[in-house]
Amino acid sequence: MYSINQIRLTRVVAASSKLASKICAPWQSHGVAALNEIVSYCDSYLRLGEIQDFENALNGLQVENSGKVKKIAAAVDVSSRAFQECAKCGANLLIVHHGMFWPGLRPVTRALRRQLKFAFENDLAIYSAHLPLDLHPEIGNNVLLMRALGFEESEPFFEEKGLLLGQRASADVALSELVARLKKAVAGPVKTIASGPKNVRAVGIITGAAGSEIERIAAEGIDTFITGEAPHWAAIAAEELGINLLLAGHYATETFGVQALAAHLANEFKLGWEFINLPTGL
Ligand SMILES: [Zn+2]
Repeated sequence: MYSINQIRLTRVVAASSKLASKICAPWQSHGVAALNEIVSYCDSYLRLGEIQDFENALNGLQVENSGKVKKIAAAVDVSSRAFQECAKCGANLLIVHHGMFWPGLRPVTRALRRQLKFAFENDLAIYSAHLPLDLHPEIGNNVLLMRALGFEESEPFFEEKGLLLGQRASADVALSELVARLKKAVAGPVKTIASGPKNVRAVGIITGAAGSEIERIAAEGIDTFITGEAPHWAAIAAEELGINLLLAGHYATETFGVQALAAHLANEFKLGWEFINLPTGL
């Protein structure tokens, strides 16, 4: 997720990342499916009609193609580079977590014009799911990161807009062990502000940029809070509150949901799929 005060400020520019790499999962194409069938299945599976989100998330189909889908691709962010990778691997439905309209109302110039032109010319459809994909009980970023850390049993927590945005679990694990598991789960570095207990008893996860919620998280009895990124002041707040704050990267904590959704749809509609991995470094 994006924290409320970051909606207009945070813009992920995947195309400029030098850390970017691409991993193509093995896939097999089985046939063709109708875009409108995939979209209506997906809207209902993700409960788009019931889940409020930031206006700019514009969850659901963002760009339509001519109606047929041969292969699905998943990426965390919309970017020109993600579109090009779709064309290279033959995908004509791209599923993303951060869609085309985060910067808000704007003229169709520069990057937006380029992206739309490319999408139309390559018959590429774009489907975006933000909060519905963070908090989904089966394929959500939070629940999947919990599982990757070894917590099979976890429950939703942290109420916002009438939704429970995060996932919490009881634990009995050394902080050092939890950090090691987290590094492995996100395949990358973890910034650790170890100002809580050495033995973790209550873990809370909100993927993305939720560090500014640390006071509310501590008030919920969490002793170790895992998120993607945080403002600088959150490190001091963690110390004052006596809780551990683990920052595993905005991008890295949000690679789970889009992949799980693409795999789920591919299975449902007998299509091939692949993950376009373009880390932002943030
Ligand atoms: Zn996010």
